[in-house]
Amino acid sequence: MAADPRRAIPSTDRLLALPEVQAASTRLAPHVIRRIITDVQNDARHGELAPDDVATIITTRLEATHPTRLSPVLNATGVIIHTNLGRAPLSKAAREALITAAGYVDLELDLRDGKRSKRGMWAKAALLSAVPEAEDALVVNNGAAALSLATTTLSVAQHLPEVVISRGELVEIGAGFRLPDLIVSAGVELAEVGMTNRTNINDYRSAITERTGAMLKVHPSNYWIGGFNASVEIKELAQLAREHNLPLIVDVGSGLVESDEVLTDEPTMSAALRDGADVVIASGDKLLGGPQAGILLGKTEIIEQLAKHPLARAFRADKFTLAALEATLNSPSTPIHDALHADSDTLRERSQSIASQLGVDVVAHDGRVGGGGGAGVPLPGWAIRLPESYAYPLRNGTPAILPRVADGQCLVDLRCVPADQDEALLTRLREAADEVAL
Ligand SMILES: *Cc1c(COP(=O)(O)O)cnc(C)c1O
Repeated sequence: MAADPRRAIPSTDRLLALPEVQAASTRLAPHVIRRIITDVQNDARHGELAPDDVATIITTRLEATHPTRLSPVLNATGVIIHTNLGRAPLSKAAREALITAAGYVDLELDLRDGKRSKRGMWAKAALLSAVPEAEDALVVNNGAAALSLATTTLSVAQHLPEVVISRGELVEIGAGFRLPDLIVSAGVELAEVGMTNRTNINDYRSAITERTGAMLKVHPSNYWIGGFNASVEIKELAQLAREHNLPLIVDVGSGLVESDEVLTDEPTMSAALRDGADVVIASGDKLLGGPQAGILLGKTEIIEQLAKHPLARAFRADKFTLAALEATLNSPSTPIHDALHADSDTLRERSQSIASQLGVDVVAHDGRVGGGGGAGVPLPGWAIRLPESYAYPLRNGTPAILPRVADGQCLVDLRCVPADQDEALLTRLREAADEVAL
């Protein structure tokens, strides 16, 4: 009787002693290496591979294993702020700031006198320099945290649990999360006013009671109401808020600092403050083009009040966020800004150059701002048109490429692909062509 081939599977000790495995142990934790060894041994035990191949396969897998499994992706969808791709890609300056922040840094230390300093001082200075309308600033974990902190501190924490908001602004932000649920989860009571399509100033006025703590206006970033509609401008709301001595919170969502000619309807932090908002909220990783963060700008008295609430500690931004946000604000541009303002002719030339080398077509294709703002605003551009079967090999290679799949086609839009990646993209498209042909 022939010997059981499974007896030929190398033992764990022998595999661990292989020079390639030893070399991998300078890059990978012991548990990671053991998991790979066990998996491959099991495959051999189940007859899925020959015992003689075990060592080679382990070596190959170890080489392909990195301490993080996150993969860089070329965003060829034409959607600038793509939440599934981690929203804003950072500028060079912000990336370098992350590396600096990775070590010991003077996060809460004044190096001149060796004494403790205020955390986040430089990020705050950068915010106030970029948005001089603000007296003070606070950075927290994300926009949702900023909204929760502002509404909770200014209402329930003052024993005035009601916050007035228009029914047209009860937003679901994605992945099933609804801002009203977030706000009420801290004990705030929402006094909803007006109708879905129309709210006027008297709706707000008649909702104010002795229990009202604040007024809230939320920019409906990811949808817009057309047709028979009306909403109340910040200026008018601010006046009503002042008459009743109530703070006005304005959530602008996207974090545009100043108005942008491509997104004329997008509210900005500066304008909201000029129009009389007491505190303005925005995300760091949408149109601002920075790291995930919740930005709160406004009156000193209010910002100080927010910073003292216990939730401020729970929502605190880490050193990476503070460093990258500061660097984003202090450097000239961001990949988000560049993609938003990409020149259509240049996009066409780049697309055509790649397409002609592959013998495929370029078609007109509108880019989008994405869930972060500018809902419904088309950004005219171009796409390389391929059969849908290209999408799988494009996603599953290095670097991974995410195209847009629509109407049975695979569309490769270069708006969010850095121009210095065109060569890499062409190589990957050729690879995909070979795979598709097989
Ligand atoms: C995106 C958004 C939020 C949530 O911000 P996150 O940074 O994603 O937590 C809140 N309000 C508005 C209006 C938004 O657009």
